[in-house]
Amino acid sequence: MTDSYDLLIVGGGINGVAIARDAAGRGLRVLLCDKGDLAGATSSASSKLVHGGLRYLEHGDFRLVRESLAEREVLLSIAPYLVRPMSFVLPQGPGSRPGWLVRAGLFLYDRLGGARSLPGARALDLRQDPLGRPLRAPGAGFVYADCRVDDARLTVVTARDAAARGAVILTRTALVAAQREPDSWRAGLQHEKGERHEVAARVLVNAAGPWVADVLRRAGLPAHRALRLVKGSHIVVPRLYEGEHAYLLQNDDGRIVFVIPFERAFSLIGTTELPFTGDPATAAISEEEIAYLCRAVARWFAKPPGPAEVVWHYAGVRPLYEDRARSASAVTRDYVFDLDTSGAPILSIFGGKLTTHRRLAEHALTRLAPFLPEIGPAWTAGSLLPGGKDLPDGGIAALAEELARDHPALDAPTAERLARSYGSEAREMLRGAQGEDFGHGFCETELRWLVEKEWAATAEDVLWRRTKLGLVMAQEQVERIGAYLARVRPASLAVAASAPAGQTAYR
Ligand SMILES: Cc1cc2nc3c(=O)[nH]c(=O)nc-3n(C[C@H](O)[C@H](O)[C@H](O)COP(=O)(O)OP(=O)(O)OC[C@H]3O[C@@H](n4cnc5c(N)ncnc54)[C@H](O)[C@@H]3O)c2cc1C
Repeated sequence: MTDSYDLLIVGGGINGVAIARDAAGRGLRVLLCDKGDLAGATSSASSKLVHGGLRYLEHGDFRLVRESLAEREVLLSIAPYLVRPMSFVLPQGPGSRPGWLVRAGLFLYDRLGGARSLPGARALDLRQDPLGRPLRAPGAGFVYADCRVDDARLTVVTARDAAARGAVILTRTALVAAQREPDSWRAGLQHEKGERHEVAARVLVNAAGPWVADVLRRAGLPAHRALRLVKGSHIVVPRLYEGEHAYLLQNDDGRIVFVIPFERAFSLIGTTELPFTGDPATAAISEEEIAYLCRAVARWFAKPPGPAEVVWHYAGVRPLYEDRARSASAVTRDYVFDLDTSGAPILSIFGGKLTTHRRLAEHALTRLAPFLPEIGPAWTAGSLLPGGKDLPDGGIAALAEELARDHPALDAPTAERLARSYGSEAREMLRGAQGEDFGHGFCETELRWLVEKEWAATAEDVLWRRTKLGLVMAQEQVERIGAYLARVRPASLAVAASAPAGQTAYR
């Protein structure tokens, strides 16, 4: 007998899992499939910011900025351990946008999007202010607040909540074909090991990101709306400065490059924006992009990194809605839906941002509600994600202290990492013995959690998405994790796919 669902969602990036979570919470029967790992594509290759997008104001994207700023507040409240406020320092210098323009932009940024908990923007004299220390020629500047997030963990945690509410989540399972019938879809799903099965669904949601046109093709439909694929790459280097603030550097081509504190010991620098054609799975950084990012930092920083200092890099492909803008930077980051109801409905998602995923899901279900009369009301704005409940008053720092106190074997950096990654669920994870120690504070109990509760199957899933321990693990440690996975998971799933330092994990 064919399993039957209300929604079949293709794509386990942030948008697919957000729709799965919302729909399952509204009482729908939901199946989500991803051909690879959750957040295996764009949703782990972002700049990891939950932000309004100050620079989108230049392109008149007021709707998007307003919605993003409002969502920043919502995400701060529903995922308080994953979404963390961060100050952004915006130095001014020769060739920068004029001070009055930046001031006006920040004025607007502070006022769009309704109530806000983060401090407003202010001007700085970076010659006097400690925030100017890393700069080559500090002068005037501004500081404003936005947020950072672990994009892959946000995706996985959202999927966990979807599953807790009844959604079926199938990773490493591709939609290979879908056939439209008057009232439903018949879809062929194929696991990476080759097993195939068929499911039926009343509605198909195409949240395949850069593959949205490919999924339309598999459903026998033309891609009505064009997609513009824009590659964006990041590099990771040893920490460039002390402190948990970021820099927003204006480059001589008018683009913006971020320098963001990353994990304990690194700085994340990005991004580039280049037109992309071909299979998004093959996107990789080029030497020119590495040089470009190093040069952009060297315009501002006293001790800029060189290409040889790059310890990791990654590239992702933005699936942007083609609005005929001339440059890649000017294409809207807003999302567009294509709802085709000429038979059983299919909703395709074009574009979007990590920041707006929850609202995107609400909008998607509003569009689909006429075809799902039993659907419940919107609910996600006020509901904590797993790990957000029962955090102590002092937030992550207090939780880390509590974990270290209750588990004397944990060192302080590990306690902090666990608090930041799992929130209050770290308490549950740490119940019982730690088991085998893989190094850098990563023990069997955590690995088991990732396999049993977070769909992790390979060393790459574990070391580059569920955690970022790939940055510090030695090859021998990676291999031990791979060997462990081979013992606890079917052999074909455990093919260790680590990303050696300096290589992209997104091949
Ligand atoms: C360089 C860069 C920086 C960014 N920075 C930010 C930022 O700082 N803040 C922000 O808010 N946004 C940012 N974004 C945007 C954000 O990352 C994306 O909008 C978001 O991740 C898109 O999510 P998605 O779910 O639509 O797509 P994806 O994450 O790409 O997910 C699509 C999924 O579909 C799956 N799939 C495809 N075809 C099939 C099939 N046939 N069967 C099954 N599964 C399939 C894929 O495996 C993939 O996992 C950035 C994007 C890039 C590229």
